[in-house]
Amino acid sequence: MFEEDTIAAISTPMGEGGIGIVRLSGKSSLLIAEKIFTCRGKKAFEDLKSHKVIYGQVHDPLTGQTVDEVLVTVMRSPCSYTREDVVEINCHGGLLTLRKTLELVLAQGARLAEPGEFTRRAFINGRIDLSQAEAVLDLIRSRTDESRKIAMEQLQGGLSAEITTLRDRLTDICANIEAYIDFPEDEIETASKQDLSESMKNISRELRSLLKTYEEARFFREGLSTAIVGKPNVGKSSLLNALIRKDRAIVTEIPGTTRDVIEEYLNIGGLPLRIMDTAGIRNSSDVAEKEGVARSLKSIETADLVIAIFDRSEHLTDEDFEVIEKIKDKNGIIVLNKCDLPPVFVGDAITSRLALCALHVLSISATRGDGLQELKEAIFNSCLKDWKEEREGVVVTNLRHKRAIENARTSLDNAVNALEGNQPIEIIAIELRDSLDRLGEIVGAVTTEDILNRVFSEFCIGK
Ligand code: GDP
Repeated sequence: MFEEDTIAAISTPMGEGGIGIVRLSGKSSLLIAEKIFTCRGKKAFEDLKSHKVIYGQVHDPLTGQTVDEVLVTVMRSPCSYTREDVVEINCHGGLLTLRKTLELVLAQGARLAEPGEFTRRAFINGRIDLSQAEAVLDLIRSRTDESRKIAMEQLQGGLSAEITTLRDRLTDICANIEAYIDFPEDEIETASKQDLSESMKNISRELRSLLKTYEEARFFREGLSTAIVGKPNVGKSSLLNALIRKDRAIVTEIPGTTRDVIEEYLNIGGLPLRIMDTAGIRNSSDVAEKEGVARSLKSIETADLVIAIFDRSEHLTDEDFEVIEKIKDKNGIIVLNKCDLPPVFVGDAITSRLALCALHVLSISATRGDGLQELKEAIFNSCLKDWKEEREGVVVTNLRHKRAIENARTSLDNAVNALEGNQPIEIIAIELRDSLDRLGEIVGAVTTEDILNRVFSEFCIGK
């Protein structure tokens, strides 16, 4: 099912770069590109070999003016990203040349691509399924090597294969059950009823195992949101700097919010740590500072992990105890900083205050670097207790997939109950079909315009 129109977009980031790419996909890609491109010997695009790079110039057909020197690659259907005819024009990476080249192809009849439309076409044309399309985005956004590996496994079809196998097994069960609908006089024999119920329960157990991977695996995709909190001067910035010095991961800008938020990521053993912007916690009458403190407290609430810092070379104050109060029920690590200075108190003062809480307490020196390795291990273990270095099997990182699996499991469990409760076969069949459909949503075998719009709206234009 090929789309009628030909789409075009700048596929590289906006800004100056060595090269920038204008990409076209669709039936008329070659025809359109040919009108604005000339190469030595004035070869017709028809004669250009697929997947070969050719040097030439982009020119404005109206004025004859040369716009840029470029390299063009033609990728003929179906051996292309979208399975349609694709042309990539490698321009010099300046914003104006790229824009001008894009304007020229649009003037020749291409339409500006919607966000993610190239990948959407790859999905619609059956080159990848929906979970693989989502993996493309995860791959682009991965911040550590481990995140990249997980995205790549999904892109190569790891999750799709697992879901397809489970769907095949469910389809067999469904066919088995539905056969009885045509012969209402036949009852399901007790033995086959037990077999069917056992097979269904096995699938339900496997779905549960997949769901269990989500909590930990999602941290690799989204980053572990971390709040570093403490009263002023305990060493929050120093700790952050000490961690960043060696292990800074990629900093991303997230547009689309009222102000652009810069997110800072640290790489802790492959785990991307998303550090939340926090002000020191202190009692203040200053309005701006109050706002900062309020945000700090909020970040404690929403964080996956809280690192609370105390200055071991000073006496604890009410402000410290306020911090302790706020973190006692959280997944947290207590850091006693400035261990290079003579201690005024040791961890006991805090641990006794926290009484039964099992928070990890460790001493560090942010400026000298003592204890940083132990801190990193504690951070990793705090959220990834079951994460094995040699992790086996497929993991679920995407909330949409998790919800679909949960729904599939609910329907499947309903089907088991209906079967064991001797309810009409139709009821069992309906629940099984629903379970199948929910799993189908993950790979896009069952889909709606709404699901597709939601998935692809997250992509940028040009992908
Ligand atoms: P923040 O207000 O909590 O962000 O604290 P800063 O990171 O700005 O640190 C406050 C002061 O404590 C600075 O002068 C740091 O140099 C100092 N400091 C931070 N960590 C240590 C440490 O481990 N040892 C010593 N001796 N000084 C430290």
